[in-house]
Amino acid sequence: MAKIGIDLGTTNSLAVCWKNNKPVLVRNSFNETSTPSVVSVDDENDVVMVGKVAQERLISHPDVSISEFKRDMGLRKDIFLAGREFTPESLSALVLKKIKADAEEYLGEEIDEAIISVPAYFNDSARSATKLAASLAGLNVERLINEPSAAALSYLYSSGFSDQTLLIIDFGGGTLDCSLVETFDGIIEILAVSGNNRLGGKDFNDVIANYFCKQSNLNYNALSPLNRSIIYKAAELAKINLSTSMSTNIKANIDNQEYSVPIDNNKLIKISSCLFAQIKAPIDKVLRDSRLKIDAIDNIILVGGSSKMPTFRAFIKEITGKAPSSEVNPDTAIALGAGIFAEIKNRNQDLKDIIMTDICPFSLGVGTLDSMTGEHITEFIISRNSSLPTSKIRSFYTTSPMQTHVKFDIYQGESLIPSKNLLLGQLEVDFDNPEQKIQEIRVKMSYDINGILIVDVEGKSGHLGDKIIMNKDCELSEADIDVLRERIKSSSVMGRNEEKNAHIIARAERLYEESMDYERHLIIAGLQKFKITMAGNSIKDMNEAYNQLQSLLDSIEGDNE
Ligand code: ADP
Ligand code: MG
Repeated sequence: MAKIGIDLGTTNSLAVCWKNNKPVLVRNSFNETSTPSVVSVDDENDVVMVGKVAQERLISHPDVSISEFKRDMGLRKDIFLAGREFTPESLSALVLKKIKADAEEYLGEEIDEAIISVPAYFNDSARSATKLAASLAGLNVERLINEPSAAALSYLYSSGFSDQTLLIIDFGGGTLDCSLVETFDGIIEILAVSGNNRLGGKDFNDVIANYFCKQSNLNYNALSPLNRSIIYKAAELAKINLSTSMSTNIKANIDNQEYSVPIDNNKLIKISSCLFAQIKAPIDKVLRDSRLKIDAIDNIILVGGSSKMPTFRAFIKEITGKAPSSEVNPDTAIALGAGIFAEIKNRNQDLKDIIMTDICPFSLGVGTLDSMTGEHITEFIISRNSSLPTSKIRSFYTTSPMQTHVKFDIYQGESLIPSKNLLLGQLEVDFDNPEQKIQEIRVKMSYDINGILIVDVEGKSGHLGDKIIMNKDCELSEADIDVLRERIKSSSVMGRNEEKNAHIIARAERLYEESMDYERHLIIAGLQKFKITMAGNSIKDMNEAYNQLQSLLDSIEGDNE
C-alpha cells in the first residue's frame, strides 16, 4: 500500500509518488502528468469519463459534462448530469478515483492514502468536503496541505533548504492566492495568507472574449451557448499564445462565418486593467499581516497556470520591485510539494529534519450581543494566521436562572458584523439539571492540523461534550454520505484502454461543433470510417484508421490556430 500527494486543482489535477528516492509525477493513460478536473457522463453506455475525454465533451456534450466544481466545494448543491445526481464532493471523488487508478497503474501498487493540497483560503466546510471526497474515492487523507505550503516545500526541496523569506503567489484558473513563508533551520513556517477567490485565468478569458465580440460586432449575450463557448475557448487560446509570442489572433467560426481579431500583450494589459488592479491588494495584506516590508522578501515564487502570462510576471515585478524566481515549474510545484510531504509523513530519513507548520486563514468567532449597545457582534476566539493546530477556551454564561438551553452561532471570517461572515453552524447545549444561578459554560474551539474546526464544551459539572449538538450548516448526514459512497463505488469510470478511442471520438465531435460546413463533411466521413473499423476486429486496420482520423483533426485544428 502506498501513499501519494495530489494537487486537486480547479482546472487540472496532478499526482506525485516517491520513486528511486525522489518525487515523480504520475503519468496518466495519455502519458501526461496533468488530468483535467472535468467529469462527463455517457448515459447510453453507462460510463463516467474523467479528464481529457471529458474535457473534449464540454463543448460537444455540455449538458452532461461539468468542470470547475472545486469552486463549490463545501456548498450544498445538487448537480444533475444525464439525470444522475451529483454534488461537488462526489464530482471531486470521481476525479480522485481516476487519479488513484492512474497512479496505481503507474506504480504497480495499490494506493490507500493521500496528502491532498487545498487552497489556503479554503474554509472549514470546503476542507471537510475535500476529506469526504477522498474518503468516497477510497483514499484515506491524514493531512490536507495548503497549496502555498506545498509550493514552498517543492521550491526548497529543489533549491536546498536555506533560510529565507518567500512570497508565494499562486495564480490559477479562478483564484489568486498569496502567502508569506519563512524557512529557518528546516522549519517551514507560513506567516500569513491572503487571496482573492474570484480572480484568475478565467477572468482574462472573459475579458478577451468580450473584446473579441466588441471588435467583431457580435452581441455576446445574444449568442447561443455553443457560440459563447467557442469564443471563450478561442480567447483562452489567444491568451496562452500571448505567453510565448508578442501578438496573436483571436479566431473563431461563428455560424459559418470566420472572425479574426488581432491582439498583443499591450492590448491585453489595457483591456484587463481592472483585473491587474485587483492583484496588489492580497500582496499588501500578507505583508501587513506579517509586519514585513517588501525588502524583507528574499524571493518571489510564482505558481499556477496563469503565472505563465508574461504580463502578470512583469506586473509583479513592477509592484514589488523584484524579479520573481524562475526556478519552479508553475504547473507542477504544488503537486510535487504534496508528494514530498507524503514522503515526510512516510518518515523518510532524508527528510526527517523538515518541519512544516501551517496556519488558519480565517478568524473564528461566535455571535454574541454587545453588552453596551445590544447589537449582534462577532466575538473572536481564534485569530487568523494562528499556527495549526490551535485551540482557545472561552467562558460564556447563561443569562437567566433555570435556563435549560444555550445556543451559539459559530462564524469564520473577519467582520465584526456576524452576518458578513460565514456561518459554520450552531452549537447547542442542553442542561438536564438547570440551576437557579447563572451557569458558566467553557467552550473550547480548536482548529486541527488540517484547519478543520472541532468544538468542545465544558460546564461546571464537568464535560458536557455529549450534550452538545454541533449543526455544521454544510455537513451531510451519515445517510447522505452512504448514498454518495454507494454511487461512487458503482459508477464505472472509463478504463485506461478505452480512453484513447473515446478521446479521439470526443475530439472529432468537438471539432465538428467548432467547424464550418466544408470541414464538417470531412470530420463526419473520417469519424464514420473510424467507428466502422472499431466495430471490426483487425488491430492493424484500427491503428490505421486512428492515425488517419488523427491527422485529419490535427490539420483542421492547425488551421484554426
Ligand atoms: P487551478 O489551480 O485553478 O486548477 P492552474 O494552475 O492549472 O489552475 O491554471 C489554470 C489557468 O492557467 C487557466 O486559466 C489557463 O488558461 C491558464 N494557463 C495555462 N497555461 C497558460 C499559459 N501558457 N499562459 C497563460 N495562461 C495559462
Ligand atoms: Mg492550483
